[in-house]
Amino acid sequence: MSDACVGGCLCGGVRYRISAPPQGVLACHCRQCRRMSGHFYAATAVPKDAFELTEQKTLKWFASSVTSRRGFCAECGSSLFFDHGPEEPIGISAGSFDDTAGLVFAAHIYVDEAGDYYTLPEHERQFTRREWSEGGWKSLRRSS
Ligand SMILES: [Zn+2]
Ligand SMILES: [Zn+2]
Repeated sequence: MSDACVGGCLCGGVRYRISAPPQGVLACHCRQCRRMSGHFYAATAVPKDAFELTEQKTLKWFASSVTSRRGFCAECGSSLFFDHGPEEPIGISAGSFDDTAGLVFAAHIYVDEAGDYYTLPEHERQFTRREWSEGGWKSLRRSS
């Protein structure tokens, strides 16, 4: 198995392994992701049955809404996972992979909520919150 399939937090207290190709990386610019990550949040995702925690002694989950929770390391503070329901794939921070060779960038989402101190690259796909909720993900799948 290549290094692209494993990752973890800065201190090593949380480690994971995936056994399916990771989805295209989404950069989310919503208020919540910006606050949680410190800038904007870039994550891939895999089906839950293709995700395994191999070390989780410092993993903590924060309920960020009624239906979703965010996983982070309580020791080093690394932002790691985004779980938005039992049937949904698990989101994994792109920066947490040991080797990012298996990752492909997909799109920027919630761009209407982006911070005003940076500029989004024009050559990368962009969706507002409304466009994304109205089927942006499907349009992305069709075009890729
Ligand atoms: Zn850690
Ligand atoms: Zn977000």
